[in-house]
Amino acid sequence: MIPSAARCGEHPEVAAVDVCKRCGRFLCGDCVELVGEDAYCAACAAKVALPLSKVARLAVALALFGWGVVGVAVLTSREHPLGVLAVLLPGPAGLVAMVVAVLEWRRARRAHGEQRSQRVAFVALVLAAPLFLLMSVLVAYGVFMVTR
Ligand SMILES: [Zn+2]
Ligand SMILES: [Zn+2]
Repeated sequence: MIPSAARCGEHPEVAAVDVCKRCGRFLCGDCVELVGEDAYCAACAAKVALPLSKVARLAVALALFGWGVVGVAVLTSREHPLGVLAVLLPGPAGLVAMVVAVLEWRRARRAHGEQRSQRVAFVALVLAAPLFLLMSVLVAYGVFMVTR
């Protein structure tokens, strides 16, 4: 609870509306930085880190799944060609991972305490982009060979 006489630590003329969860300093509306649901001062908001977001994890998982299918398809192509499956799964997985990674990266960049999610979303993008490009080239090549 904030005493009604409490003033902002930065702006003594302004009434405090919240308390920094980390250092306990009083904050006015302008000074409150939200990290998730909690209020912090600017200095503390930069220090607290939220756990890795599920969305960033999902983007990485999708990209790895796509590469996994490509890997299995390449390794088993001699004995039993997965052919269609190898093209149908990684392409869309790469595309979805790419879109999710970009959206999550942009969200995390604007949020406080989301540095980890931002980094992981970037990793997902780096994994997913070449996967999608590779699959696009393969599909284009396949279409070219079929329609020739
Ligand atoms: Zn603080
Ligand atoms: Zn203030």
